[in-house]
Amino acid sequence: MHATSTIYASRIQRFRLPRVCVPLVGEDPARIVERAESLVRDNPFLEFRLDYLANPLAGFPKLKHFLDLHPEATVIATCRRAVNGGKFKGSATAQLEVLTKAAATGFQLVDIELQTAEILKQQQLIDLKDRVGVILSFHDFKTTKKLEETFTELKRYPADFYKLVSTATTLYDNVQMMKFLQAHSAQYEMVALCMGEQGIISRVLGVRAGSIFTFGAATRGEETAPGQVTARELRDTYRIEMVDAATQVYGVAGDPVAHSLSPVMMNTAFRRETVNAVYLALHAKTPKDLLACVNDIPIRGLSITMPYKQEIIAALSNSDALTRQIGACNTLVRSQDGKLYGFNTDVAGIIVPLEQRLTLQGAKVLIVGAGGAARAAAFGLKNKGAEVFIANRTPENAQALARQSKSKYMKRADVGKSTFDVIINATPVGMGNGKQSPLEDKELNTRYLFDLVYSPAETKLIKMAQAKNIQVISGLEMFVQQGARQFEIWTGKPAPVAEMAFVVTKALERLAAANGKEPSPPPQEAAEADESGATRIASRKPTVASKEKAKAATHKPAKKAVRKTVKR
Ligand code: NAP
Repeated sequence: MHATSTIYASRIQRFRLPRVCVPLVGEDPARIVERAESLVRDNPFLEFRLDYLANPLAGFPKLKHFLDLHPEATVIATCRRAVNGGKFKGSATAQLEVLTKAAATGFQLVDIELQTAEILKQQQLIDLKDRVGVILSFHDFKTTKKLEETFTELKRYPADFYKLVSTATTLYDNVQMMKFLQAHSAQYEMVALCMGEQGIISRVLGVRAGSIFTFGAATRGEETAPGQVTARELRDTYRIEMVDAATQVYGVAGDPVAHSLSPVMMNTAFRRETVNAVYLALHAKTPKDLLACVNDIPIRGLSITMPYKQEIIAALSNSDALTRQIGACNTLVRSQDGKLYGFNTDVAGIIVPLEQRLTLQGAKVLIVGAGGAARAAAFGLKNKGAEVFIANRTPENAQALARQSKSKYMKRADVGKSTFDVIINATPVGMGNGKQSPLEDKELNTRYLFDLVYSPAETKLIKMAQAKNIQVISGLEMFVQQGARQFEIWTGKPAPVAEMAFVVTKALERLAAANGKEPSPPPQEAAEADESGATRIASRKPTVASKEKAKAATHKPAKKAVRKTVKR
């Protein structure tokens, strides 16, 4: 930290700042104060973006009233200039006037850009720092580059906190940012993170690498930077207040993963079983980038989703028999010495819900589809002694899978002539608008219908089956069970399946409620990228039945257990 410490700086450092600061924007001060009033109880650390106000100086009486009423709150005043990515059209001197007024009004901290510091006189900065805690910031909206050079520039100016925000274009950018933090945070008060969807690692793990705090949006829709997650998610899902050096890191890796339900499900499981671990959505654009991260962070385990389930196999030191048999890995474990081991839990996702209902030995099962999910079903069911038939749009693909898995190929024309114990839909037909079905009513001659599609929860196929009194199993059960098995592999503990199912159901309900309707159907490619059930979101109407459905998915777990930027 700079040698000239001040009353304000020491006052700020005396108490521990919360780890999450919530930025607030609004075009008039009344709006900012209104939002602050509603948030301050749960979020005592706020940032007021004064640059969003039409006339920042005129807003201070209202803002002062809030500060006087809430001495418990710590509030940053930011008036970012438009040239640096903010909204304030005034000069550097005018910006300084606003921040000086903020100090006089009672704000504990002000944020000022490096670019402004370079324009002002050194004495002006010292005077400001004597009045208020100063965060000297630099934002790069495009890349994560030249962190050391930028920091050398920042250190030339007096400040209480040095804030460096970049944009992650790879997962490895997070590693660079955290290495940078580790190198300097013992000596300086630092705030650093990467923006962008790929920056989630630094947003959650930056605090354990030495960032004093990070930023979380007030709500979804109030993000002030790309990739910003909500303060609530940071606290409740990622448990950011608990993240420490011992926290194990897990995640779901794929492309895309933005809407994955896996983080909410797996973080709930870790919390419920008091495992000191955090689970992140890792948008990996290449396997190379992903593997570099796995080694450097280090990441203890990953859920692998499309398009990397096959590709990842080349990086494994060893894998379980199912992974070798199926040729797809959806679960990765990293040992202490950095070796990677692969497992396939998609099979458990299909087999467990079925075994909870019937004996698979000798059961007659029809799989519709011959892609990745069908593959997991075919090998898994054959291993359990079922008699497996495969029908598919492209007969050659069904024939090939039948050959490999020692199942039987069935012509579509013959499906209606047979009866089955189970029919499994392993095609995406029925996803989204739910108006299509992969089979006709007369072809549903079965005791159980397992639709692997979970978006919507009630597909046309499921409705058709229910109308015929066929017992149905939803794709949500597969999603929960494959995740439960991953949890058990990683932790050695039985998975809290009930909580996992419940929280996923709730997340879907919240999404539906937020949209005021059924969630929009995921695009086909995204859904296919969702093989582990990890990515795109299903639709489900908020109903009281949801708890029961969540419960239905709940059964005994398997035994085993520079220079341009602003915003964050
Ligand atoms: P995939 O590898 O792309 O295979 C899709 C299969 O469906 C192929 O056999 C394809 O036939 C067939 N198909 C595609 N469009 C069709 C259409 N319009 N009419 C008839 N058949 C069609 O996909 P996947 O990974 O196996 O996933 C399949 C579905 O399972 C996903 O869409 C998802 O809804 C569901 N799933 C759910 C979970 C879960 O956790 N609940 C997990 C994984 C998958 P061709 O051979 O002719 O191309």
